[in-house]
Amino acid sequence: MHPDLERLDRVDQLDRQLRKFDDGARKQRAILVDAKAEIQRLAGQLDELNHQVAASKTTEHEAQRKAKRYQERRASAQRGLGQGRGDPDAAQRQVEQCNEILDGLDTDLLEQMERQDTLEGQHTANAAARQAAQDFEDAAALSVPKILADLDTKRAKVQSERDGTYAPLDNDIKYKYEQLVEKKRTAVALLEKGVCSSCQIVVQNQQISDLKRGLIKPCRGCHRWLVLPQS
Ligand SMILES: [Zn+2]
Repeated sequence: MHPDLERLDRVDQLDRQLRKFDDGARKQRAILVDAKAEIQRLAGQLDELNHQVAASKTTEHEAQRKAKRYQERRASAQRGLGQGRGDPDAAQRQVEQCNEILDGLDTDLLEQMERQDTLEGQHTANAAARQAAQDFEDAAALSVPKILADLDTKRAKVQSERDGTYAPLDNDIKYKYEQLVEKKRTAVALLEKGVCSSCQIVVQNQQISDLKRGLIKPCRGCHRWLVLPQS
């Protein structure tokens, strides 16, 4: 194989490794960003639930105060009846009216308490989820920088080998390499069983023998440089 082709093949491999490092680093940074966003989302939910629980308690207290007033009014009417004061029919009507209102309030209060139980359950679950998200973020804040530093070190080594391999190539080959990478991500394709492994086109025998003679030949399908499998 032509020595330039060997270089191009190696540069192509190293560039793939570099992209993998970059993808890995991007994912690590996304873990932190996502963890922070999740905490924010849960904190917003928790605020909303706190608000709803407070409003629900206010409603409950108002209903209890109202019930107390009607209980007092009923007791006073009953006392009047017991002591034979005032109009007994009116007092009886008042007791019945109070009973009706108090029944309604009882039902309201029960429903209100059920709603509050549900809200408090949601609140507990949300607080636990928020704590878990916080713990996850704390752990990620420790681990992610270490992983990123490790990726950086490994990447720098690969980058230096890549640059050293790439530098001696002629400018026109470099230009074509950059163009291929920009358009197709990879610039080199392996010839496998007479077929280009990137675009699957059948490579002509003449081209295969040219490659074996050490010529540089692009694939007619995808224009990547074809390389022979290493025997
Ligand atoms: Zn091809």
